Amino acid sequence: MFTPKSPSIAVLFLCAVTQWASAEDNRAHISIRGIYGGVPTELLVQGTLRDYGVNAIFMGSGGINAERVAVLKKQGAKIFAEFNTMHVATYLKDHADAAPVGVDGKVCPAPHGWQGNCPTHPGYRRFRMDAFRRVLRDFEIDGIWLDYHHSHASWERAVPDMPDTCFCERCVAQFSRETKTPLPDEGTPQLAHTILEIHRDSWGQWRCDVFTDWVREFRSIIDETRPRALLGTFHCPWTDAEFDGALRNKLAIDLRAQAKYIDVFSIMPYHARFGHASDPSWISRQTKWLGDYLGVNGEPGERHRIWPIVQLSDWGESVSSNQVRSIMDHGTRRPATGVMVFNWGSLKKQMGKVDEMAKYYREIQP
Ligand SMILES: [Zn+2]
Repeated sequence: MFTPKSPSIAVLFLCAVTQWASAEDNRAHISIRGIYGGVPTELLVQGTLRDYGVNAIFMGSGGINAERVAVLKKQGAKIFAEFNTMHVATYLKDHADAAPVGVDGKVCPAPHGWQGNCPTHPGYRRFRMDAFRRVLRDFEIDGIWLDYHHSHASWERAVPDMPDTCFCERCVAQFSRETKTPLPDEGTPQLAHTILEIHRDSWGQWRCDVFTDWVREFRSIIDETRPRALLGTFHCPWTDAEFDGALRNKLAIDLRAQAKYIDVFSIMPYHARFGHASDPSWISRQTKWLGDYLGVNGEPGERHRIWPIVQLSDWGESVSSNQVRSIMDHGTRRPATGVMVFNWGSLKKQMGKVDEMAKYYREIQP
């Protein structure tokens, strides 16, 4: 048993413990305590969202309607729409020329079933911009979050599959034109080889620029239709160095360039899904990296905010209710100033985890 030899040591010890505890428990910098995945009607049967410490709901833009908006407004909750940018697979049924093309010149199969679209297909881009504008025009939402804004790839897992795309004639010609890169008159397999071997850097940057330009246009639509709404993005949680720089080189995500248009970065550190099931501290490490990378500290008044989406659902690996508190702790450390849990559709069947989430949210609720 610990028996301090002098009162001063005991006092010092107590001070240290108190200081540690208050640093851990103080989450006054967290303004958003969210749930992702639709209106949690199960929580509203006997109480209010505030009873659960929740003040924000994220839901798919296709699931938003006037009634749901009214329910959440009545609760005083913020409403954020999730918007699928590059992964509307149904578009390909009538527009086969929007399918991403691989290095062999053929349509690239969907890795693990994650189907993307060609980023330079003008019809697909217009289709998404029109849908984006409609959501903002029709519903009084507080923000809209880009989702799947990356190339044709499967990365929401421990071992990703990220084929090189898109080598359709349109993409290759646009790359050559916009970067002033002369290309020989060859078939796609040879051209793809030349591009990846000789022009790898400019190809990678050009692809990033194409995806960033989508973000620029999304921003301009917000500015025209609902300027107070925030523009957020759900994005891959890797650092710029992991998987050989795949964030940029494979997924075409240039976070710093997108920061010109984005307000909130919702990094997706799904610790269990990404091979860190027993290490929730991975969440705060990845978030810290993002803050350093973007120059975000989690202080009031900063232009950019970081609101991680953390995994409480069983996906890939199960997440126990015993771990929820640690996940919430790591998800709410600076530079984060908001957090949301993934996802209601699954959590509503595991109320033990919801109880743990609510306990934490209530404790940090002002
Ligand atoms: Zn293409």
